[in-house]
Amino acid sequence: MTQPIAIVTGAGSGIGRAIALRLARDGMKVLAIDRNPEGLESLPVCGDFSTLVADVTVENAPELIIDTAVDQLGPPTVLVNNAGMGNAKSALDTPDEILDRYLDVNFRSVFRLSRQFVGATGGPGRAIVNIASVFGSVGFPGSAPYSAAKAAIIGLTRQMAADYTPQGVRINAIAPGLIATPATADRMASNTRYRRLTVDQIPAGRPGTPEDVAGTVAFLCSRDADYISGQTIVVDGGWTATRYMVE
Ligand code: NAD
Repeated sequence: MTQPIAIVTGAGSGIGRAIALRLARDGMKVLAIDRNPEGLESLPVCGDFSTLVADVTVENAPELIIDTAVDQLGPPTVLVNNAGMGNAKSALDTPDEILDRYLDVNFRSVFRLSRQFVGATGGPGRAIVNIASVFGSVGFPGSAPYSAAKAAIIGLTRQMAADYTPQGVRINAIAPGLIATPATADRMASNTRYRRLTVDQIPAGRPGTPEDVAGTVAFLCSRDADYISGQTIVVDGGWTATRYMVE
């Protein structure tokens, strides 16, 4: 089997970093992308692992990212749309420019890069994994533009699966619950209400790790997931399926 070539966005931190390292460990060639150069600096760079500083929201990002993958590693067969921004607010506290930024980073960039990937590559055995969120299917206080964008990703996953699975691209999403990353560290440490609504209600008894999500990405990209497309897999320690509360 030819070596898979994966693109991972938002790979300079947290979940994206764990995904890039896991796919490389599983034998894939990886192009790790982030808008923040510092995050990429600590990643290994070798023949099978490249990095690219790019903001996924800029106009030419889709072409730049796919062309860079082709030039440096070969035609990509896996795309992981992970880059995203959290810490949103309620609708009344979200002016238009903030709404546009959430939609741009968390949804429009995913649509555009996925479209480029599907159009520029060919053949069977390709996979897209979109990192959504449990907030894409569950209401949560103070998260309107973020959660709406994540719900849109879940819908896009189903729609693109209908259009492109016949052409050999399986398209799935992962909805993580609370994962311990730099994006959630402050709120977990200092916001008691947030902790009560999240950490205290996880039957698994702990927040998830970036590696918990990376393992599910690896599965969805593997031959073991050959018959799975259009799905959103929840990785949340049981949070959404239950009404658990720590004693
Ligand atoms: P993080 O902040 O630790 O990492 C996100 C990375 O994405 C950063 O390195 C950042 O520089 C990069 N990034 C952001 N916008 C970008 C852009 N426009 N172009 C290129 N790179 C960009 O966050 P994380 O917790 O690892 O989250 C990763 C993904 O997982 C996000 O999509 C997030 O919404 C999702 N998610 C996280 C959690 C959680 O609890 N941490 C839960 C559900 C979903």
